[in-house]
Formats: sequence, C-alpha cells, structure tokens
Amino acid sequence: MFKRVVVKELVSLKNSTSFRIGGKARYLVIANDEEDLRGALELASGVGLPWMVLGGGTNLLLAEGILNYVFIRLGRGFVGVNAVEGGRLEVGAGTPVERLVRLKPCEFSIFFGLPGTVGGGLKGNAGVRIGNRYVGLLDACERVKVLRPDGAVLWIDAKDLPKGYRYSGIDGIILSAVFDPGRLQEFWGVIPQRPVVEPFPNAGCVFKNPSPDLSAGRLIEELGFKGVRRGDAMVSRLHANFVLNVGNARFDDTMGLIEEIRSRAKQERGIDLQLEIKVVR
Ligand SMILES: Cc1cc2nc3c(=O)[nH]c(=O)nc-3n(C[C@H](O)[C@H](O)[C@H](O)COP(=O)(O)OP(=O)(O)OC[C@H]3O[C@@H](n4cnc5c(N)ncnc54)[C@H](O)[C@@H]3O)c2cc1C
Repeated sequence: MFKRVVVKELVSLKNSTSFRIGGKARYLVIANDEEDLRGALELASGVGLPWMVLGGGTNLLLAEGILNYVFIRLGRGFVGVNAVEGGRLEVGAGTPVERLVRLKPCEFSIFFGLPGTVGGGLKGNAGVRIGNRYVGLLDACERVKVLRPDGAVLWIDAKDLPKGYRYSGIDGIILSAVFDPGRLQEFWGVIPQRPVVEPFPNAGCVFKNPSPDLSAGRLIEELGFKGVRRGDAMVSRLHANFVLNVGNARFDDTMGLIEEIRSRAKQERGIDLQLEIKVVR
C-alpha cells in the first residue's frame, strides 16, 4: 500500500541532531511529497508506533538505544521558496530558516542566526525577544499548510493559531507556509543579539524562560550551575541555559543534569522550569 515510500531501519540519528546525542531510528522515511507522508503515517499505524517529523534536529535530545518511532524527514520535495502574489513567499517546510533570511536579509533580519528548518521553527514558533515583545516565525506568516494525522491537507490562517512564546498549536505535519515580509516591517533591519556561539554541540536553550522578567539562563546561573558537569554533559559557562556536549555525552548524564537543574529551581526558588527542547525516548 505504501510502495513508493523508502523505509530505512535502524538508522543512527546521533548526527542528525545538533546535540550529537542519541540512538537509532526503528524506521526512517524520507518523504518527498504528500503521498510519501501518507505512506509514512500508514506505516506507523500498521506497525503500531508513533511517528515524528525530524526537522534540522536543533531542538532535540534523543535517548540512546533503539527509538521506537517512525521518523519522517522532509526531503528535497519540501525544500524551496516560490514567490507568490503580493511579494509573499511560499516556503517548503524542510527549507532552512537561514535560506529565507539570506533571500530577504532586511525583511527577515530579525531571524538572523536562527537554526533549523521552517517546519520545525513554525511548530515551536521559534523566534526572539525584542524588548518586551516575543517575535516568532508565525508573526511573519500568513498561512500554514498542514497534513493532518487523518491524511487531510488544509491551509490554516496564521491568525487562527493560538501562537505564543515557543508555541504554535499546530497539529500535524507542516508542509509549507506563506510568509508575508510586510508583517515584520517594524523589525526590518533589526538584528537581534544572539545568546552565544558555542563551539560544542548543543540544542540551544534547554528551558523556556519562566517569565519575561526572569530568563532561565539567569536563574540557572544564580543557582551556581555554570560549568557544572556530568560525564561529558556540561552547563555552558557563557550562557547557563545551554547544556553542551563537550565530548561524547550520554543521554543519561545530559538528562540527569537537566533534572538536577529543574529540581534545584523548584526547591530553592519555587519555580517549575519547563523544557524548551523536546526529549525523545
Ligand atoms: C545554537 C542554537 C541556538 C538557538 N537559538 C534559538 C532562538 O534564538 N530562538 C528559538 O526559538 N530557538 C532557538 N534554538 C532552538 C531551535 O533552533 C529552534 O527551536 C528551531 O526552530 C527548531 O527547528 P528544527 O527544524 O531544528 O526542528 P527539530 O529540532 O528537528 O524539531 C523540533 C520539533 O518540531 C517538530 N517538527 C519539525 N519539523 C516539523 C514539520 N515539518 N511539521 C511538524 N512538526 C515538525 C519536531 O517533530 C519536533 O517536535 C536554537 C538552537 C540552537 C542549537
């Protein structure tokens, strides 16, 4: 039934993430069109496993061993940018955000340095804080094309999405999106200060900021975690909300360090830190 889908088994995903931690995919499907995606969803329901889309892997912490999922990677069929009416751009979900920025550097300058793909970025409404305002990819977006888990494809108007700080409410596989550079006009030419450029593999900020007034980085620094290490997992000395893989970090050490930070934040400051990265096990 899903003849056209190329399914790989037991493929290592370690190097598919920016953290360089993780085991093997039970199944991996590279999808180039909607039919491939439906095939992948059918495969998942046929083998009784959950499915998950892999974007650029820049926000993921994967466990070791065999990961019992049907992972879906968007192939070349989902990478590219097309001009549509009124200066808008339809961008494939597998396209790196960086490519969008390079194409319209002034209009999308606010997203300069944002790693990952358009699909992953829209799923988590990735973005930056400018003053007291959070500006996410969805703010630049007019509509998003999604393949729902039941196989239906629909366009969702961005204004109908309950978007927020690192949250989009999008359910299903993002296929493409129409961006309207005009929506960001007040930020044209604004290049945000990037947190840090670390030489070691990492997945960006581990925790969401507890509030606009208190960054997770400041809290973790105040708890004395900068430079604290478990195995090869270490809290960055530059930005305490980054955990680094300084060698060959194991999932257990990395997760242990993250849990330790979380429990100290709760015990000492009464704050429930929420993960920004997605942990897959
Ligand atoms: C050095 C560094 C700096 C960072 N700075 C920032 C920053 O300033 N702001 C910020 O917001 N984030 C930042 N991040 C985190 C990360 O880059 C973003 O969250 C990014 O948008 C994730 O995109 P991705 O393609 O890598 O998604 P992945 O990490 O591959 O996946 C993230 C989630 O999105 C889902 N997903 C991926 N593609 C799709 C799709 N097509 N359809 C549906 N779901 C999908 C995945 O299943 C997963 O749940 C940073 C990360 C690093 C390593």
